[in-house]
Amino acid sequence: MTNPLLEPWTGDFALPPFAAIRDSDFAPAFDAALADARANIASIAGDAAAPSFANTIEALELAEETLNRVAGVFYNLAGADSTPKREELQRDLAPKMAAFSSEVTMNAALFARIEALWQARGTLGLSPEEARVLELYRRMFVRAGAALDEAGRGRMAEVKERLAVLSTAFTQNLLADERDWWMPLAEADLEGLPDFVIASAKAAAEERGQPGHVLTLSRSLVVPFLQFSPRRDLREKAYEAWVARGANGGATDNRALAAEILKLREERAKLLGYESFAAYKLEPEMAKTPGAVRDLLMRVWAPARGKAQADAEVLTRMMHADGVNGDLEAWDWRYYSEKRRLAEHDLDEGELKPYFGLDAMTEAAFDCANRLFGLDFRPLDVPLYHADARAWEVTRDGRYIAVFIGDYFARSSKRSGAWCSAFREQRKLGGDQRPVVVNVCNFAKPAMGEPALLSWDDARTLFHEFGHALHQMLSDVTYSLISGTSVARDFVELPSQLYEHWLEVPEVLDKHARHAKTGQPMPAALRDRLLAASTYDQGFATVEYVASALVDLAFHEGAAPADPMAVQTQVLDDIGMPYAIRMRHATPHFAHVFSGDGYSSGYYSYMWSEVMDADAFEAFREAGDAFDADTATRLEKHILSAGGSEEADALYTAFRGKMPGVEPLLKGRGLLEPAA
Ligand SMILES: [Zn+2]
Repeated sequence: MTNPLLEPWTGDFALPPFAAIRDSDFAPAFDAALADARANIASIAGDAAAPSFANTIEALELAEETLNRVAGVFYNLAGADSTPKREELQRDLAPKMAAFSSEVTMNAALFARIEALWQARGTLGLSPEEARVLELYRRMFVRAGAALDEAGRGRMAEVKERLAVLSTAFTQNLLADERDWWMPLAEADLEGLPDFVIASAKAAAEERGQPGHVLTLSRSLVVPFLQFSPRRDLREKAYEAWVARGANGGATDNRALAAEILKLREERAKLLGYESFAAYKLEPEMAKTPGAVRDLLMRVWAPARGKAQADAEVLTRMMHADGVNGDLEAWDWRYYSEKRRLAEHDLDEGELKPYFGLDAMTEAAFDCANRLFGLDFRPLDVPLYHADARAWEVTRDGRYIAVFIGDYFARSSKRSGAWCSAFREQRKLGGDQRPVVVNVCNFAKPAMGEPALLSWDDARTLFHEFGHALHQMLSDVTYSLISGTSVARDFVELPSQLYEHWLEVPEVLDKHARHAKTGQPMPAALRDRLLAASTYDQGFATVEYVASALVDLAFHEGAAPADPMAVQTQVLDDIGMPYAIRMRHATPHFAHVFSGDGYSSGYYSYMWSEVMDADAFEAFREAGDAFDADTATRLEKHILSAGGSEEADALYTAFRGKMPGVEPLLKGRGLLEPAA
């Protein structure tokens, strides 16, 4: 019996044959694909011919072809349309895929070939792109421990294994604390809460088999409760429970785990010859050094803290006027800030929503891409993996560029959040391969016959993910290692955060934000109030974020602290953390940093990208037109089509002529305005 995952895909646009794929096809397809990849790796490593770029690096690029194809389908479905069976398969696959990856990077014969090419790189006549790909392969292997002696490789494997166990435990403890805490809300406790919060509290009660309403520690419930509940006693109780996650003592306490994780990370970095984990982690990033990260964060810190302190005074006065004396506490901030937002900006979500239809906003994102990059979008009628997913053919001057899939509605089989991924990446090696890119979001699905309406935040998310999609679709490189979004972590959010700016262009809103029922454009006064509110409470948001990023950095710079909580306290003291604001993520529940390696000494990345997106959009402002053709051409040439073909700072400088300053970010966050 044939397996559609392993057969050539000969349908329209060589899309995966979704209609023919059964869940039972995945396990045998992965087995076959892993066996195929292992055989390819073995034949590259054991090749009797002297290493060449073609027989080693290009062969490596193509060695996991089948595996990438199968994994591309499976992991997209596991995220966007999971089932218990798919989850089980995902758990089974995790150790298999990890073992395969270690096997490749610890293959001594394979590394010897890469190293030989690297040593001879000056004599190989490589193009700049080839040289870059060789450099990245060698770096990947060296950073995984390939160049260590046998004892070093053995210890590295032990350290990685223990770190994986600790990270999993950290995550599970956090989930347990979040699951185990809830607070019943009597009828009187619902005072002041908007309908959507009451509905969530009721759903949370039902999920726990409780009558009435309960408050849980889910961010989407506890944050609106803190914004809207006039009950200061309940806000305090909820807030203290929320920030105590992972620090409640007993079996789920994460503090000792955090200390052990930091110690093992330090050992891992030292084994590889780095002076600290931060030095190791930041080396391939745009920031490169802990000093550069600290410098950025501290430049933002002072104005953000100033703004937050001025805001704290306003909020304290409001609280005193409310008859509550004493200091503004952390559980008071969101409540008084929400009151102030309503008073100053008069923005009502219900008034805005009819202007942000999903179809209109998708059209807006396409229209901006047309004006900037000449892309055209044609709806496709092809079988996809779910009835809610839609596809478009993307062309330019009639030439086929990509397939774009939009999968926008929430459903229980989809994980939360929003993301962009690819079923297939762009590359030219072995034939021009055009990408199949998907944006997945969790927008509320409307009742039958009603138009799908987005919130302003949803519309921003749609533009954000579409920016990532452009980075994939406009990619124009030879090697998949550097294709599309395969760039430094502190650079990858630039195209996405940059694209959000076009949603805020008044002429884009005037053209596309039309009332779903009447077709009328959004009134200019409403539009202006909307845009004016975009910097609201950014002092608070920036302070809670930067404090977390500075603590993350301190943990990984220098020797690992025996007591991370003491370091956290020390860092916050040193920077003068405002009294009524706490870290966005305190250490015992700082999942970005401890639930895996992704954002360890990397939490600053969002802000690093924001410095660039603010400055990059300035380039269009300076040209006097948000759709300036020359600037758009430079953006595509140096950033959107270039993938990771050069170091990110070289790409950025080629686009902008210089590295960015921090002023556009401060302006964008409203932190340069005189304090109110
Ligand atoms: Zn993003």
